Amino acid sequence: MSATACLACGSARVERFLELRGVPVFCNVLWSDRAAAQAAPRGDLDLGICADCGHVFNLAFDPELVRYAEGYENSLHHSPRFQAYAEELALDLRRRHGLDGKHVVEIACGQGDFLKLVCAGQGSVGTGFDPSFRGGDPGANVAIRPEYFGVSPLVRAPDLVCSRHALEHMDTPADFVRMMRQAVPAGSSPVYFCEVPNSLYSLRDGGVWDFIYEHVSYFNARSLAACFARGGLRVTRTWETFAGQFLCLEAVGEGGPAAGAPAQLASVPASDELLTLAAGLGTEVDRLLVQWRDEFARIAGAGGRVAVWGSGSKGVTFLNLMGPDGAIGVPVDINPAKHGLFLPGVGRQVVAPEALPGLDIRLVLVMNPVYAEEIAGMVRRLGIDAPVVGV
Ligand SMILES: [Zn+2]
Repeated sequence: MSATACLACGSARVERFLELRGVPVFCNVLWSDRAAAQAAPRGDLDLGICADCGHVFNLAFDPELVRYAEGYENSLHHSPRFQAYAEELALDLRRRHGLDGKHVVEIACGQGDFLKLVCAGQGSVGTGFDPSFRGGDPGANVAIRPEYFGVSPLVRAPDLVCSRHALEHMDTPADFVRMMRQAVPAGSSPVYFCEVPNSLYSLRDGGVWDFIYEHVSYFNARSLAACFARGGLRVTRTWETFAGQFLCLEAVGEGGPAAGAPAQLASVPASDELLTLAAGLGTEVDRLLVQWRDEFARIAGAGGRVAVWGSGSKGVTFLNLMGPDGAIGVPVDINPAKHGLFLPGVGRQVVAPEALPGLDIRLVLVMNPVYAEEIAGMVRRLGIDAPVVGV
């Protein structure tokens, strides 16, 4: 039992289950200098799970440590698999909500990649909010304000308010939902769409490298719905996407569209089942690290190296937990913005796939299994015949 209440449902019944000390605060801020990368700020993960809604969150999270720096590189749009998913999702939203000619607002829209897709229909208008917006022209019908949502008022009432991969960063997510509800002009009744990583994937399907400092919360469909309900919105639908790795939710305010229709909710295992899974995770992380340390030692002994494909959160967490035993691990990424830069904490330099043929690679570790096929194809085209396996 902990003194900290569940961030999603407010319950006081929170059990701690996994501690990871000294992980990088920003997995996605890479450094141009090895020493600076090694000196990057670190924080602790002290993960708890709510016995009522199954929500997982970091009890040791300190919002003071998190300041989104320039150089933040978390765009996933370089991957064809992710790009195809984003296009499919945008089309689904446009069709189901009839967004042609409507106004779409996106919170934490990055450089506007997704907002442009949702606003691709005839007469659609988009307004995005993101302090990390680098400028440039997002398109004639899309405007991006380089600020946090809610700071300045919206003039035109939105028909859809979306937020993708933002809520898990908030230290008070229910307050954030309340703010979203209150920041729309009086009289407007938009549909709210929210997408977050799915904690079931980490708990049940082995995504153990997903626990990172930047994510305060790890939602399941029940805890996400509880969070929106606490924020004063009525949840109409929750569902899994991207091979179960993401969770989507739609909600409306009082008197919003589809009032009275029954909610369609994704099924979630009972919370005691989730508590059992969480309790086993610490052991699982230790088992996997022992297994990969042995394998790395064997390959190092033979003079080879291991390509660690994917230098996002999962790759950074994995290599940091491996520590010095992961020294022959070479981080690889297809995103050209990352090439030549150093990973926070371990300070290892990211290379382009094209650099691999000269590196005596004996094993390719795929950090995200959803990209396994795409990566195996690239590895073969590079003429590397090392096994390609998931971590
Ligand atoms: Zn809860």
